[in-house]
Amino acid sequence: MSILVTRSSMPPLEDYIEEIKPIFESHWLTNMGPVYKKFQHQLIDYLGVPYLSLFVNGHMALEMAIQALGLQCPDGEVITTPYTFVSTTHAIARNGLKPVFCDIKPDDYTIDPDKIEELITDKTVAIVPVHVYGNLCDVEAIDRIAKKHNLKVIYDAAHAFGVTYKGIGVGNFGDASMFSFHATKVFNTVEGGAVAFSDAAYRNKLHTLKNFGIINNGNVDDIGGNAKLDEFRAAMGICNLRRLEECILKRKVVYERYNERLSGINGIRLSQPQVGVSANYAYYPVYFDKDILGKSRDDVFEQLKQNDIYARKYFYPAVNELQCYQDICIWEDTPIAHDISLNILTLPMYEELAIEDVDYICDIILNA
Ligand SMILES: *Cc1c(COP(=O)(O)O)cnc(C)c1O
Repeated sequence: MSILVTRSSMPPLEDYIEEIKPIFESHWLTNMGPVYKKFQHQLIDYLGVPYLSLFVNGHMALEMAIQALGLQCPDGEVITTPYTFVSTTHAIARNGLKPVFCDIKPDDYTIDPDKIEELITDKTVAIVPVHVYGNLCDVEAIDRIAKKHNLKVIYDAAHAFGVTYKGIGVGNFGDASMFSFHATKVFNTVEGGAVAFSDAAYRNKLHTLKNFGIINNGNVDDIGGNAKLDEFRAAMGICNLRRLEECILKRKVVYERYNERLSGINGIRLSQPQVGVSANYAYYPVYFDKDILGKSRDDVFEQLKQNDIYARKYFYPAVNELQCYQDICIWEDTPIAHDISLNILTLPMYEELAIEDVDYICDIILNA
């Protein structure tokens, strides 16, 4: 049987049926109903954040967080990372803002704060960093830069659900943080997402933006859209949240087995745990140094594929190498992101992955 890079986490069917029964009684399917509210409160508790607004997916959550902060302005620029899923960049561009790409750190793949300031101009309005693979950005340095230059910070925390730093939930950094609950993430609602924020002023703004900008009967004060999380997905979230701790522990077992098998090998670079950061074991990225190994990332990818194992070149290519952003940047400006994107592979990682399968995957990699 083939092994895919991930397998969506699902609750027992009976749990889900139990959770959607009230929906069948009330016929209240969407528009911030009781299940939405219950789920929202559970998440505020779990993530330890002051406010949270739920969305139909992570992308719209990020797009509307940028809009809600009032960042749209002619020629406005946003400093971000090219080493991310294209959604991050699209959310900036679709707000009429220009993404400006800053290179990343070679150790944890997050934006390099030492390279941010040289990119700031009088048009810069915000920084949109990404907690890649659940690795925490240098939130303290980014905060200092943002305060000094009066910039907003919106984190793409799509990979960082449940991660804490010195005991503080990751959603508390910056002006806002986006989480994704897509089927492939550590925690899913099938499709879904959220924005966490600390300033109550954004609460109504986000709430109305995702519902066409409607403030009350017939009055519309903003050009919104439709990005509401429905009751069925909220119910899925309630079921999956209940199991999350257990799922993360199972992922940890897989993670540690990979570490045991792959560490200490010249030419194979593994992610190192960050001090003070709790991991969610969302991904297992491995950097293959072809100069040392004599085999490239692509060779390993193919070798696994021949054995019906599907790792992922994630992220490849870097966003600033994609056709739709060709006219605003050159990849040579971010050589580290370019190098990482060419040499990294995320290995299969999900809670049900058997240890024997992890061993099988490692055998193939080590034999290659
Ligand atoms: C998944 C993801 C998104 C988009 O989230 P969706 O819920 O799929 O819309 C954005 N950024 C990153 C880094 C992601 O991994």
